[in-house]
Amino acid sequence: MSAPRLAVALVVVLALAGCSSEAPFSTPSTAQPSTTSGALPTTTPSAGTVTSTPGETSIAGGMPIVGSSSIGDPYFPALGSGGFDVDHYLLDLYIDVDEGWISGTTTITADATSTLLAFSLDLIGLEVSSITVDGLPADFTRSDTDILIEPGLPIPTGERFVVAVTYEGSPEPVLVPWFGLVSGWQNRSGATFVVAEPDAARGWFPGNDHPSDKATFTLRYTVDDPYLAIGNGVLTSTLPGDGVTTYVWEMDDPMTTYLATVVTGNYVRIDREGPGGVPLRDFIPADFEGGADEVPAAFDRVGEMIEVFSDTFGPYPFDVYGHAIVDGYPGALETQTTVIIGSSIVDSPFLGEIVVAHELAHMWFGDSVSPATWQDIWLNEGFATFGEWVWIEHADGPEAMLATVEGTHASMSRTPHPAPGDPGVPELFGDSVYLRGGLTLHALRAEVGDDLFFEALRAYYGRFAGGTAATADFIAVAEEVSNRDLTAFFDAWLYSTELPDLPTIPE
Ligand SMILES: [Zn+2]
Repeated sequence: MSAPRLAVALVVVLALAGCSSEAPFSTPSTAQPSTTSGALPTTTPSAGTVTSTPGETSIAGGMPIVGSSSIGDPYFPALGSGGFDVDHYLLDLYIDVDEGWISGTTTITADATSTLLAFSLDLIGLEVSSITVDGLPADFTRSDTDILIEPGLPIPTGERFVVAVTYEGSPEPVLVPWFGLVSGWQNRSGATFVVAEPDAARGWFPGNDHPSDKATFTLRYTVDDPYLAIGNGVLTSTLPGDGVTTYVWEMDDPMTTYLATVVTGNYVRIDREGPGGVPLRDFIPADFEGGADEVPAAFDRVGEMIEVFSDTFGPYPFDVYGHAIVDGYPGALETQTTVIIGSSIVDSPFLGEIVVAHELAHMWFGDSVSPATWQDIWLNEGFATFGEWVWIEHADGPEAMLATVEGTHASMSRTPHPAPGDPGVPELFGDSVYLRGGLTLHALRAEVGDDLFFEALRAYYGRFAGGTAATADFIAVAEEVSNRDLTAFFDAWLYSTELPDLPTIPE
């Protein structure tokens, strides 16, 4: 994610004017969820059952349980569910672009990791009309943040099952009070889009809304003509109907829920050849000020960026890449393979190219390697900030990169900030996570030298691509590759509030 500070101040004003302060939002808490977390009204286990604890994956004897309504994230205990692992989502939605209204069915294929008497999905708002499990109607009850689903028969451990949730309504955007950004579903005149980090995917489709449960996606969006519906991955079919068109997108690589998106409106698609057989496709609003017949200057060097990052981090993770430009969003989000980027960012000669580099770096770090918990957010944002510096070093030379890094260190040294390894919810997208996170990688580069540092980066990406990683995983790889005990180094850079001095990279 990228949201320049001035733009954030602007969006706070817009958000306060246009977004209900009563939007459902989980209260940030560092407390561990209890075994009965989530206000589910009917979770009282019947005789002979137990309620699972977050993170629990099995129970002796396969005794049926009510799956937990939390996956156990230390920062967002309401997110995610226990007792199953999602393999695939099929979102089949009609989107009324002008009304900001959706209807359809989300079908989830999942594997039970416990024998399940009942299980939870995250969903906020919207009206659920029916739920089936393996084709049979299932009972369900709702709380503010979850649906508790009770199939007629327990689902045995290890069994694959299919749950289909049919629903409709107007998804509400959510004001993220500690960040000042509006998250989730957003309506504009003749357009909609979704930016759901960290916890707003549950505002438009039911699921296991936590980055530790990644899945493949089929996104089947129907919109009225002449609108286009843009999703993640590859557009595999365009199916004309009666005044409507259905666009089917396939994301064959695992993706976290917050990176799934839909962008609708009057768009022009521009295709370009990318490096290494990675097609580039960008979506420009038909009325884009800079014109919609060619990509904006900020996108000109994306192919070169993919080459530089592939050389530095490892092969580009996905089949395609590109951007969807949206109006009225003063930031960008690394929505997998289809980055959502605000038109004001694209137009900015100061920000455009560097934000483009930042979001592209997220394809490796954040999207392909996803954070195990939200406390690990610096593995997304610190690495993407370091990606900006990799690009500056390539495009403008090592001195320009060093000047940027030194300026960043000087600025952070004047600003009290939390430790990036445990920033807390209010600073989840704060400067410490981005800037000191990036500085941590730069300092590691100085500490172990270029050869071992970049070998460690590639080893970390190679080992966790397509999955999730915690900070301890990155530290373990860095220690393994450098053959060094780096405990003191990472304690100082990630877990102490005092900013260490900036080491110099040896000549
Ligand atoms: Zn970012």
